[in-house]
Amino acid sequence: MAVDIQACACGSGLRAQRCCAYDFNNRPPPGSAKQLLPLVERAARAFELKQFDVAEQLALEVLELAQSQPGALSTLYRLRRAQNKLAAVEVLLRRFVWLYPNEIGPTCEFALLLKQTGKLAQAEVHARNAVRIAPTNPGAHNLMGMILTDSNRPRVGGVSL
Ligand SMILES: [Zn+2]
Repeated sequence: MAVDIQACACGSGLRAQRCCAYDFNNRPPPGSAKQLLPLVERAARAFELKQFDVAEQLALEVLELAQSQPGALSTLYRLRRAQNKLAAVEVLLRRFVWLYPNEIGPTCEFALLLKQTGKLAQAEVHARNAVRIAPTNPGAHNLMGMILTDSNRPRVGGVSL
C-alpha cells in the first residue's frame, strides 16, 4: 500500500499508480468519465483565472478517477509548464499525444519541448505528425523547419516551408 500512495517520480503530482505506473492500454472506454466534465471545466477556468491551486486540485482529482481525461491532462501539463517542471510536462504531453494523436496544439507543444530539450530526433517525429494533422498550418511547417535546421539540415528545413 505504501507504494500506491507515493507521488510519481516524474513530478506530475499524480500517484505513480495513476501516472507512469499506470497501464494506459487498459483504460476505460472513451466517454466513461463524462460525469467528470464539470470538474474538468472548472479546472480549466481556474487555470485561466490563475487560481493555480484550485486548478491543480481539480485536475488531480479528475485524473485520479479518469487517467486519460484530455481536458484534465491538458490543464495539468499547462500548470506544470507554468511551474517549469519540464520532466512532468514531458511525461504528460507524451501521454496526451499518444492518447490523442490528432490534436495539433499539444503535438506542436510536444515537438517544441523536445526541440528545446535537445531531443531533436523525437521532436522531428512529432513535428512531422503536426504537419500530417494540419498540412496547411504554417506553425506546423515552421516548427518542422526549425527542427530540421537545428538538426543541421537547413536546406531540407527551408524546402519544407
Ligand atoms: Zn509520472
